[in-house]
Amino acid sequence: MNPKKRKYDVIICGGGLAGLTLARQLKVEFPQLSTLVIEKRTFPKPVATYKVGESTTEIASFYFKEDLQLSDYFKNAHFKKLGFRFILGDGRDEWTSRPEIGLSKYPPYDSLQMDRGVLENDLCEINKVSGVEIIDDTAIIDIEINEKAQDNIVKIKKDDQTFDLQCRWVIDSMGRRLFFHNKYNLTKKMETPHNAAWFRVKGRFDVEDMVNKDNATFRNHVPHKNRYYSTFHIMGQGYWVWLIPLNSGHTSIGIVTSEAYHDFSTYNTKAKAKAWLEQYEPTIAKHLENFKMEDFLRNKNYSHSATRVASIDRWACTGEAAVFADPLYSPGSNMIGYENTCIVDMLRKDLSNNLEEKHVDRLSQFIISQNEWLIDHIQGSYPYFGHQQVYTLAYLWSVVIGWSLDCPQMFNKTFLDIEVKTRLDKENANIIFALGRMKKLFLDWHKVAKNTFTFDFIDYLNIPFILDIFKRNLVPNKSLETLIEDRIHTVERLEEFAQAIFLIVVKDVMPEQLERFQEPIWLNVNAISLNPDAWDEEGLFEPKTKPRDLTIVQHQILKVIQYKDQLKEKIDLDISIF
Ligand SMILES: Cc1cc2nc3c(=O)[nH]c(=O)nc-3n(C[C@H](O)[C@H](O)[C@H](O)COP(=O)(O)OP(=O)(O)OC[C@H]3O[C@@H](n4cnc5c(N)ncnc54)[C@H](O)[C@@H]3O)c2cc1C
Repeated sequence: MNPKKRKYDVIICGGGLAGLTLARQLKVEFPQLSTLVIEKRTFPKPVATYKVGESTTEIASFYFKEDLQLSDYFKNAHFKKLGFRFILGDGRDEWTSRPEIGLSKYPPYDSLQMDRGVLENDLCEINKVSGVEIIDDTAIIDIEINEKAQDNIVKIKKDDQTFDLQCRWVIDSMGRRLFFHNKYNLTKKMETPHNAAWFRVKGRFDVEDMVNKDNATFRNHVPHKNRYYSTFHIMGQGYWVWLIPLNSGHTSIGIVTSEAYHDFSTYNTKAKAKAWLEQYEPTIAKHLENFKMEDFLRNKNYSHSATRVASIDRWACTGEAAVFADPLYSPGSNMIGYENTCIVDMLRKDLSNNLEEKHVDRLSQFIISQNEWLIDHIQGSYPYFGHQQVYTLAYLWSVVIGWSLDCPQMFNKTFLDIEVKTRLDKENANIIFALGRMKKLFLDWHKVAKNTFTFDFIDYLNIPFILDIFKRNLVPNKSLETLIEDRIHTVERLEEFAQAIFLIVVKDVMPEQLERFQEPIWLNVNAISLNPDAWDEEGLFEPKTKPRDLTIVQHQILKVIQYKDQLKEKIDLDISIF
């Protein structure tokens, strides 16, 4: 079908996840606007063996269900996710001897496992029914951006015919074609390449089937035997392997690595990927023999950032056409939610004639900072993937940071209002610098860790202060007053958690230093480090905040680990060991 008109309010170039969700959001927000989506491929797209972007967090889930008003659709058409699950330790060890971090039951707020083919086909239909015009089999050839007051021009080609279409706003959602990146030289590439290869198998690739049915300990950790619905991260140094269930009756399996540890050429074909799994994750490789690999795709050096993702000249990028950090913790769809919501906000202001360049620049910068923080935070942790002690505490720290600082942004759209954002950032001040300190702490720790503690299984939502952070921060429609109150409360827990982690690390690698910590312990989290010579000079013992009781958070964390030398019992009785 050719375009019905020659002029639209918005033309969305690329009908993948980012473009189709933006079209839906625009329809929900501004039913009167004319929107055209142009997609190169043909609908319906293949089911299961199509794209990655299958696992979501609570942030993306909130965006999909609430902002797109598709709650019933997602409840019925895609799997509810049993949280993130991590298998640590050495891939060559007996599977059940490897430590596991994951949920025992569904969390209070759901996230999703999505089949991308099913989702894009359904979104196409949902959009069409609501009045969005979508033309497939049509390629964008060029986009001309004109002076502020004039329309932009989109040049398209369909069935050997070319058309020039006019629009007020034009969106690049063409994924890795990176149209505006190339046009305006916007791309920032990352220093160390990170790569991935993935495939789908038909059927249920369920780790429960890899374990002896009589293994009661393993079964009891997840009593409903539904681990399958988690996003699995099977981790080793410099790599992780994902397992994601798809509602089309397939399982998605992917290998993700840092080039610093694993040369991409060692797993970039179907045969090599199998051999790679045999070498690093033999239990997975063995179980894979029962399945047929239905496709094989890969992506070399997948991360990128940008110098700009939106302009006052009424163009913007969303999805991978804007930025992409890393698949760990599934932030891709979160970013789509943020990007689309920024675009909708710019349009809203444009419609009421009060869109200012500084607002566009600020939102553009928000997306870029968010992405670069993710790259730095996630890719900085590849060196200690699989390390039982270091990765465990680093993950608990990361997930708590995500729920504390990221979730309220999406659940309450705090990033759109500079005054709200600045007000909340003020409350973060005490912890923001500590994020860098904690990142370095984990990196330094893994080089010298003595691995003095262990555990079989940690359900991170069974840790009361973490559950409290989850429940407190994943709540929409808050007043500014409540947002501030919750932020203060949350940042206090983070400050306590950082100290509790630090003390565990010190006890692990330099227990002789513990005598320097006087009861009741209260430290300056901005001076945390594994360099005891710098502690005095950097003010570790001169806290900037009023001391609080650290032992509540400390006890809760110590409860989920066991010291190998049986010291834990003593610590439980006498926390003053610190
Ligand atoms: C290894 C890996 C794993 C990932 N895992 C996850 C995950 O678990 N969870 C998550 O949230 N995210 C994940 N992501 C990110 C996720 O894949 C992306 O965020 C998402 O696919 C981006 O969607 P998009 O719409 O921007 O791009 P795409 O899905 O690529 O859509 C772009 C569309 O534009 C069309 N197009 C291209 N050129 C033209 C043209 N010239 N004219 C017209 N149309 C055109 C294409 O046909 C396509 O349909 C992962 C990414 C990687 C690399």
